[in-house]
Amino acid sequence: MDLFDSNTAERTNLPRNMIENSMFEEEPDVVDLAKDSNTFPAFSTLDPDEVAYEPRSSRLLVRGLGENDMDDDEEDCESSARLLGMSFMNRSSAHRSNSSPYIRQSPPRTCSRPSACTMVVCVLVLVIVASLVMVMYLLPGCTFTRAGCPKSNKTAPLEPVYPNSTNGELFPWAELRLPHSIQPLSYELTLTPDLDNMTFTGRTVIKMSVLHSTKRIVLHAANLNITKAMFKLGDGQAHDVTVLEYKPRQQIAVKFPEELKTGQQCVLIFDYSANLSHTYDGFYNSSYTDKDGNKRVLAATQFEPLSARKAFPCFDEPSFKATFLIRINRKPSYMTLSNMPQTKTTPISNDLMQDEFEKTNVNMSTYLVAFIVGNFTSVSSNAAGTNVSVYSIPEKKEQTGFALATASKLLQFYNGFFEIEYPLKKLDLVAIPDFLAGAMENWGLITFRETTLLLDSNSSHLEKQVVASVIAHELAHQWFGNLVTMSWWNDLWLNEGFATYMEYMSLQEILPNLDTGNLFLSVRFRAMDKDALNSSHPVSTEVNTPEQVEEMFDSVSYEKGASILLMLNASLPKEQQFKKGIIQYLNTYSGLNTQTEDLWNSLTQVEVSTPRQNISEMMSSWTSQKGFPLVTVSRKGDQVTLSQEPFLLTSDNTTQKSRLWNIPITYVNDSCSLALQCRQMYTLKYKTENLKVPESVKWLKLNYKNTGFYVVDYGNDGWNALIEALSKNISVLTPEDRASLIYNIFALSRLGRVPFQQVLHLLNSMSGETEPSPVTEALLQLNSIYRLLDKRQESGLAARMKAYIMNHFGSLMKNQSWGEEQSLSKQELRSALVSTACILNEESCTDQAKSLFKKYHDSNFTIKIPGDLQQAVFTVAAQSEDDWETLLELYTATTHDAEKRKMLKGLASTQDPRRIAWILKAGLNGDIIQTQELPLIINTVCNGFAGYLFAWDFIQVNWDRLIEKFPVGSFAIQTIVKSTTSQFSTQAHLDQVQAFFSSLKQRGSQMRSVQEALETIRLNKRWMESNLKAIGKWH
Ligand SMILES: [Zn+2]
Repeated sequence: MDLFDSNTAERTNLPRNMIENSMFEEEPDVVDLAKDSNTFPAFSTLDPDEVAYEPRSSRLLVRGLGENDMDDDEEDCESSARLLGMSFMNRSSAHRSNSSPYIRQSPPRTCSRPSACTMVVCVLVLVIVASLVMVMYLLPGCTFTRAGCPKSNKTAPLEPVYPNSTNGELFPWAELRLPHSIQPLSYELTLTPDLDNMTFTGRTVIKMSVLHSTKRIVLHAANLNITKAMFKLGDGQAHDVTVLEYKPRQQIAVKFPEELKTGQQCVLIFDYSANLSHTYDGFYNSSYTDKDGNKRVLAATQFEPLSARKAFPCFDEPSFKATFLIRINRKPSYMTLSNMPQTKTTPISNDLMQDEFEKTNVNMSTYLVAFIVGNFTSVSSNAAGTNVSVYSIPEKKEQTGFALATASKLLQFYNGFFEIEYPLKKLDLVAIPDFLAGAMENWGLITFRETTLLLDSNSSHLEKQVVASVIAHELAHQWFGNLVTMSWWNDLWLNEGFATYMEYMSLQEILPNLDTGNLFLSVRFRAMDKDALNSSHPVSTEVNTPEQVEEMFDSVSYEKGASILLMLNASLPKEQQFKKGIIQYLNTYSGLNTQTEDLWNSLTQVEVSTPRQNISEMMSSWTSQKGFPLVTVSRKGDQVTLSQEPFLLTSDNTTQKSRLWNIPITYVNDSCSLALQCRQMYTLKYKTENLKVPESVKWLKLNYKNTGFYVVDYGNDGWNALIEALSKNISVLTPEDRASLIYNIFALSRLGRVPFQQVLHLLNSMSGETEPSPVTEALLQLNSIYRLLDKRQESGLAARMKAYIMNHFGSLMKNQSWGEEQSLSKQELRSALVSTACILNEESCTDQAKSLFKKYHDSNFTIKIPGDLQQAVFTVAAQSEDDWETLLELYTATTHDAEKRKMLKGLASTQDPRRIAWILKAGLNGDIIQTQELPLIINTVCNGFAGYLFAWDFIQVNWDRLIEKFPVGSFAIQTIVKSTTSQFSTQAHLDQVQAFFSSLKQRGSQMRSVQEALETIRLNKRWMESNLKAIGKWH
């Protein structure tokens, strides 16, 4: 999946607040349940409907089921973490009311008619029981930690209490993950969507194989009304069965009186009905207004990560791969699409046709299944034997050309690069009018937002860059993700990190004029911003709840994953070992599921002529621990000392200082610093190591072109030497290295390692800078400080900051033309400079923008505004009453989606409170503005002074409606939380944010993005408190 509103799409809007930082400083091994939400999220929000575990005497009993009912393999599945979780739940069960729905053993019925004698007996029994319990819990050395008292418990296995099904019967499974006793082999789905009533009916036939003898089949279903279920064993007769449902886990089950035996095959058949979803997942309805003003409806799917179960009963985990045969019944006026080519169409009644699709020739995870019903037109071409088509609603057919050409090129590139042919006969790319993610890689049927697929002939290079990047990402998934899939969501980065890395790598090869190198560099900086927080997580991290699955779709899985792959590739001799290794990985695990270690092993074991590196050893330090290292360089003569420590923007991190990474350090020096051949390598494995350089070397620059995922502090002398060299000649370093120095020094300033004055010295030494990467990075950092000052109403200091920015970049800003610009790098530079100048209300900029909008308006919108300037022009226009109205009319009329989005951002940047209120509400209602755009609206509103407090109120008041549309933990919710809170820097706001989110309980209080928000506010506060004076004094 592509998240879209992440770094890629937001690139051209400069400053987001990047001063980030902390509060939850506890180590994972500190026993503090309230805070250790990642490991035991269910504890503090324990729902009465969830499974409980109870102590009884010194052991726990399975309630209601004989112990033999548990499969051996399932007992093995009880992870130690799970067991630990249970022991704590034991304590909470004491607080449960008697209305708990779980089947419990009846309490002893003694004392039901109390007499003096029985009272005495009862009291005695109670005292004995209480004493036993106390002795057990208070044994010397047995502290009641999360681990309970494991050593004394050897003969007492912890076993679950099974919950009640909706019909009151015992549900035979008590885990989030399904048992592995049954393996689905094939699905046959027949679906009949009714787009008039927004409902559908379905029949699902699942063939399965019994891997381990069992008396139950457990699978997923959510919000499906199952009207009939049948079961068939081997060649026997099908007979009706009762389906038990446990809604909190979205599981259903069928119990059998006799064991199904290992090796047997069986079939389950479900008939059911459901509503088409009104959110953006499952089988959902979408609508748009056509060019004649008529409302058109369609239905499409979005199953990743947990929503296939909302369209059909299934084993909805990525490791349960199977084949799929899909049939869809539709009205003659609609068409349908699915993963595979259509094989036949049969009329089944007067107004119903049945489309049948080929059975998949590959085993596929459920989250990759897709189907669409609607009215689309397409363009097609043949690329290396695969029929590639791009679908859009009819009036946007003209906008599909670039996508078709790019997808065809990329398909051929990947066929060659991976040395494995794309396995399906067709590849469809479909632009869906209302779609939340950027795109979704369903095998053979990739779905996109219109903005990420469609371009008209006037589109700018920057718009092409977005579309090409998203296509490249989704196509890479057809191998990384679809052919080889992570076993569980904890390793999502194997899908997303790789697709993100391949997206930049492939485009640099086949469309170098799109200049994606700069984009990738800024993406790596942003990934480090997030990973520097204590609330970050390891790339490969434990995932135990649906919300945690949603939260894996974040910049750590995507951008940090991609960054460490780049670092690995850049540190290996040429591309040989890397490329051969990933080809071997794809071949070895084709059609299967993997874990992170499988990738590292493939890369380590591959045959290469150059000395082979132990990749597993090096890379596991990057995937198994959160954060990244700060490398400190100090030098005495020819002796250079390198040392590493975790880069953590928090003060109390004593225990984490022991973390070490295996860092492939690269460096250049003053005698040779630009070409790849200048680069020297050194692997830093220990805390401190020494290397030698010739004494004549004047300065060192580490992390050549910033391909490594670490920050470098050169110490006072080292920084001064670099600043001196740059003052004389800025071209002694590559533009990437200059951007890297800027990022590093701001990061060190945030950490309190270098004074803000030193940051300014570095910037001053680069006053002649004209390359986009260093300029955009410097602007982004300075703007974020400006915004914090502005929001704190430190108007004097904000004015100083503005003056500094204008002083430093003013002449470069003034040199920008306002006409068409062909070079992409010049467009990037201009877009950043002009946006900043106009945001800062620089008169020459706003005058130019106003006059350009007037020309556009007077020409009846036929004179084109250059694509890279549109955002600045629309934003300036939206500040005037009349032009805001004009812009709204234009927004509703335009069919060019990239431009439309920029108009929307313009509209949302208004400083008029009534309009801010209106646009937030319109985004939530979804009539004039599609709800998919709400995260973008909130983000834009928050950037302005007038709206950021308003937006914070808005999300508090409307939280329940927001999480109805966007799941708790999803990327959209992460964006909303971050946007509304990341510019606070006072104690009062910190208290407010903390109070609001903790009041949400299971409706969001456990989200990692909440911890991140609190941490960020604390760091903003700390930075402001320690730097306000320095900013006040600087000149
Ligand atoms: Zn993806």
